[in-house]
Amino acid sequence: MGKTFIEDIAQRLRIIPNLDRERSDGAKTPLKSFPEPEDWHDHVELDANEWPKMVEKRYSLVPTTCFNCESACGLLAYVDKESGQVSKFEGNPHHPGSRGRNCAKGPATINQINDTERILHPMKRVGPRGEGGWERVSWDQALDEISTKIRESLKTGAKDRVVYHVGRPGHEGYTNRILKAWGVDGHNSHTNICSAGARTGYALWHRHDRPSPDHANAKVILLTSSHLETGHYFNPHAQRILEGMMDGAKLVVIDPRLSNTAAMADHWVPTWPGSESALFLSWASMILERDLYDRDFVENWVNWEEWLQADYPDEESSFERFIELLKEEYSQYTPEFAAKECRIPVEQVIEVGEIVANAGSRLATHVWRAAAIGNLGGWQVSRTLHLLNVLTGSVGTEGGTSPNSWSKFKPELFDVPPDPDGWNELHFPPEYTTTSCPWDMPPRGTT
Ligand code: SF4
Repeated sequence: MGKTFIEDIAQRLRIIPNLDRERSDGAKTPLKSFPEPEDWHDHVELDANEWPKMVEKRYSLVPTTCFNCESACGLLAYVDKESGQVSKFEGNPHHPGSRGRNCAKGPATINQINDTERILHPMKRVGPRGEGGWERVSWDQALDEISTKIRESLKTGAKDRVVYHVGRPGHEGYTNRILKAWGVDGHNSHTNICSAGARTGYALWHRHDRPSPDHANAKVILLTSSHLETGHYFNPHAQRILEGMMDGAKLVVIDPRLSNTAAMADHWVPTWPGSESALFLSWASMILERDLYDRDFVENWVNWEEWLQADYPDEESSFERFIELLKEEYSQYTPEFAAKECRIPVEQVIEVGEIVANAGSRLATHVWRAAAIGNLGGWQVSRTLHLLNVLTGSVGTEGGTSPNSWSKFKPELFDVPPDPDGWNELHFPPEYTTTSCPWDMPPRGTT
């Protein structure tokens, strides 16, 4: 179609770009969300900095991973074929978790590459600690000095003087292996005050230390956190929570705060901080009392015979008797008990409890952070939450909640060193016997 009279005038006055300009091939092809993988080795797009001139730039697109949070979404690095530099990051549509959709921090990875304050060399403190004096040293000097100090500590038996701290462990256990080989229990990260509580609760159920909920296929999505905007795995989870909701799933959010996620929920349950386990126990009791438990799953996957032997050795060892005794044990966790502990109306305990109890095998649950670590005994939050999945038989089902690493390749390391017998009590205080759990070894005080 030709130019209109108005466009012609506007073009002459340079109010709009030159519509008669030559267009690149790229501009003639239909718009696409992502470049096709067959073009990744030689992707062509127009240089935005040259606009309105049509200057083509050629890129190699290299798949990589965002590590600005543990979701580890897929990215494509756009490597300028002329300069060899990364020009930008975009989503990788073929990544199974993020599927090409990233939060703002993904593409912002370019800022880290180009950060003028990025530390590129080993630095050694000069002058008193805290004064901010640093000098650049060689890698050889840094490695020699640090390894000599570590060696001196280990040789003199001072195992409590070696601690390794990392912001986000991404080493798949390999660093722990080295520390164990040194005989030191010195791995430290923010996990101790972050996910350790919830992970302990899950590990006690099935060794795997996190849940992997199938939100997209769930009937009920039960969150003890604010996953749509701040909870962990929020981008991959948020995508699937929204898919589940569009398919009719009910969203239940347990959060003292009216978070953005809570605001999107069908039911917001503002429990008093630290009381969440009471709510889950009362819902467990409700499932038992109403015979809504999945008999096949519980009978075959729960160690009910061992429990009877340990706690009721004189009782008949039958599943029916086990259920009767379990009902008796949980009968103390009434809706009134939960309402009092959680400081919410008893009607809400019952109304939301009925939704959860009737979710069957399509109950997708998740808990992270605040509830399970910010309170004494917080690890019981994930333990009692997962009990709801166990009772409803929603473990490893479509729309249910799977152990996180079922489908993850985890190489077994050869020649595993024994667990260490020394640690620094500033790192593992004696009163933290069960709240810190390095994942390839049991918590202190357990076997
Ligand atoms: S959610 Fe955002 S910050 Fe986290 S890995 Fe994905 S893109 Fe990166």
